[in-house]
Amino acid sequence: AFEMQGRFVADASHEMRTPLATMRTNLEVIQQDPNATLFDYTEMSVTLIRTVDRLERLSNDLLLLARGELEVHKALVNIEPLLTEVIQNLMPLAKDYHVTINLNVYEETNVLADARLLGLAFGNLIDNGIRYNRSGGSVMITVSDVDHGVTIHIQDTGEGVPSEELPRIFDRFYRVEKSRARNRGGAGLGLAICEHIIKLHGGHIKVSSTVGEGSNFIVWLPSIVSTSFDPNLTGS
Ligand code: ADP
Repeated sequence: AFEMQGRFVADASHEMRTPLATMRTNLEVIQQDPNATLFDYTEMSVTLIRTVDRLERLSNDLLLLARGELEVHKALVNIEPLLTEVIQNLMPLAKDYHVTINLNVYEETNVLADARLLGLAFGNLIDNGIRYNRSGGSVMITVSDVDHGVTIHIQDTGEGVPSEELPRIFDRFYRVEKSRARNRGGAGLGLAICEHIIKLHGGHIKVSSTVGEGSNFIVWLPSIVSTSFDPNLTGS
């Protein structure tokens, strides 16, 4: 555990180095240019904001992974409105990437969950489905009831993941190709966070993928059948 923690800190520091170096270089270049105009400063501020965004995302992700089981506030959550809100928030990104998002809910299902964390997990999965897609592609989200649980499929028509890399994509800091990550600016933490959150809820996540055709992420969560559940008992 000690060794793993050391590795985690080393990887995290490594991820911070590039954005910090970018910021330093930009600031030094402009500071040393006596002819720098207001336009140059404005242009640089765009790069700096983008880099700060990246650092902010990274620090939020690291915090979430480091916090472990703390701060999980479970309450009755209906999956459909939760997913609808997550999708709504990702619509601008989907438009940018020319990707359509479809939601099919076959059964209304409640789970006992931390809505914020669960939203974060599905947000990461759908976000990946958009960014690793092709122009004109789609992300199909399907919710169905299985015995004692609810299954959520997040299926995309993107580039897919080679089978030899598939077992590693949930590892912290693992990226399939450095070039992919560069376009997206991810640190390889999104899926590690998803798995962490799903496990905190007593569920599991699996994936199947075909290169050139797309990927299918399957989340299973234990469900609460509405008829046998009294929401007054949740206390929140
Ligand atoms: P990142 O934040 O860098 O995207 P993730 O943990 O979310 O990191 O994903 C890990 C790796 O798995 C990424 O490098 C990406 O290449 C690959 N990946 C994740 N989701 C998909 C997907 N839907 N389609 C293709 N590749 C994916």
